[in-house]
Amino acid sequence: MVGTLYVVGTPIGNLEDITLRAIRILKEVDAIVCEDTRTTMKLLAHLSFAKPLLALYGRSGEGVLQRLRAGESVALVSESGTPGVSDPGAELVAAAHEAGLPVRAVPGPSAAVAAASVSGLPTDEFVFTGFLPRKPGKRRKALAALAGERRVIIVYESPHRVAQALEDMLSTLGDRPLAVARELTKVHEEVTRTTVARALDRFRVESPRGEFVLVVAPAPSSPEE
Ligand code: SAM
Repeated sequence: MVGTLYVVGTPIGNLEDITLRAIRILKEVDAIVCEDTRTTMKLLAHLSFAKPLLALYGRSGEGVLQRLRAGESVALVSESGTPGVSDPGAELVAAAHEAGLPVRAVPGPSAAVAAASVSGLPTDEFVFTGFLPRKPGKRRKALAALAGERRVIIVYESPHRVAQALEDMLSTLGDRPLAVARELTKVHEEVTRTTVARALDRFRVESPRGEFVLVVAPAPSSPEE
């Protein structure tokens, strides 16, 4: 019998944010394939058990498929949150499907969904961009394509580029309600309801620190709608 690939959500900050099922699966599998062995080792130390760890890089996915074919079960985790969401993992999952191997979800936190939930914006529907392009021209183009978007827009951004991203949002989307979700679940967690222009004023004078999700309101409806 072949083994199962479990795709396991892990904390995005607070190590208590892991499900009972995720802990059980991580304990039961033969190996854990991870983005960063040091981060996963810290998580396992917190949970008080050890497990063989395989780093996910290059062609290491082939070794994982071999293990699955040989009947071993393997858990896939990323550095934080949900594997494959702006993190490695999707290729391995695709290869497992292609090889006809069972893939199972062990859901957990994801910063995009956590930020949506605390934004207070109408997140019944949203567009998730992941990280915006680094190059200014491409970033503005990507944002301009979203100017008429009638759903909330959720963006991951590195602290080094938060101010530029806000500047480009202001010029392409205009000033709109915005939720800034910073360091979710961590000691310096901050969720601020503001606008694109006010957030830009703030981060022009204050260096953004930590991990950020920007949750932007949809395009306003026109008067005839
Ligand atoms: N796989 C992860 C997930 O499911 O959310 C995302 C990993 S991605 C490499 C890292 C980005 O996610 C950060 O740059 C930030 O935009 C966002 N992020 C992760 N953890 C966060 C947190 N605790 N607070 C705010 N944003 C976070």
